[in-house]
Amino acid sequence: MQTLNTIEEFRKTKAALPGSWGLVPTMGYLHTGHLSLVKRAKAENDLVAVSIFVNPTQFGPNEDLAAYPRDLDQDLRLLESLEVDLVFNPTPEVMYPPNYQTYVTVEHVTKVLEGASRPGHFRGVATVVAKLFNIVGAERAYFGQKDAQQTVVIRRMVKDLNMPIDIIICPTLREADGLAMSSRNTYLDAEHRRAAPVLYRALNAAKEVFDRGERDGDHLRSIMRGVIESEPLAKLDYVSAANATTLQELDPHPAPPPSQTAATGEGVLLSMAVRVGKPRLIDNFLYENGQWLTGEVAYHR
Ligand code: AMP
Repeated sequence: MQTLNTIEEFRKTKAALPGSWGLVPTMGYLHTGHLSLVKRAKAENDLVAVSIFVNPTQFGPNEDLAAYPRDLDQDLRLLESLEVDLVFNPTPEVMYPPNYQTYVTVEHVTKVLEGASRPGHFRGVATVVAKLFNIVGAERAYFGQKDAQQTVVIRRMVKDLNMPIDIIICPTLREADGLAMSSRNTYLDAEHRRAAPVLYRALNAAKEVFDRGERDGDHLRSIMRGVIESEPLAKLDYVSAANATTLQELDPHPAPPPSQTAATGEGVLLSMAVRVGKPRLIDNFLYENGQWLTGEVAYHR
């Protein structure tokens, strides 16, 4: 495994390694969820590149950029053990040199949910992912369902800008009590860690009524809100029951029965953001083609 810090070095090293490439973009502080993406990339490509870059343009002025957890040595040890071929670990100056002024803006799907709470976040995400795609030149890129809106934004960008890359979405890995794995879980103290699975419980409560045929958006949202509000250590940012493609909220009127929903291919995304002590946690369940998504999904160019 080689670790490269500049675009020139990365391209030169990659050019000497022929074969199909899979890319796993990350911000480091790797956990089992990240590693599941790397394993999937290893299985489906001749060679794998992992980027580790805490991207400043996707953090708001009052967010945790400076405090974002980092442990490069440990990350490199983990990636080495998975036999990753190349690690791209640039500095902010390499990615955004002086006079940098080009950004990628995906319009409608970035305005709601995380985009409403974190203005500019997806402009930063789309920009850095477009740059990584251009720098690495992989055949396939791997993302986690954990960041559901990010997967929608990136798929939209790839389609709209005709990027020659397949996007593979991998399932969310969870702790034994249902808490979605996240680098930010490290901010949880013991008391808040015990409270954090409330997101998973809320999603399951909505899933249960959904499975009994409920399609009223208000009812699904109020069930999730009720579970979150029952946990005194949790502070709700938003809950959402939305169309999985447009990310527009499901309306309160009775929607078509499940069979029809499946037939039209209209997925439903249940999602939420909740502050549990210090960290702001996100989680989601995705219902598509008549079932809850549990495996990986490939979107071909
Ligand atoms: P991050 O380092 O947070 O930017 O995450 C890098 C990639 O790992 C993103 O595509 C995330 O969606 C994915 N990821 C993060 N947490 C998980 C998880 N618990 N399960 C699966 N993938 C994840």
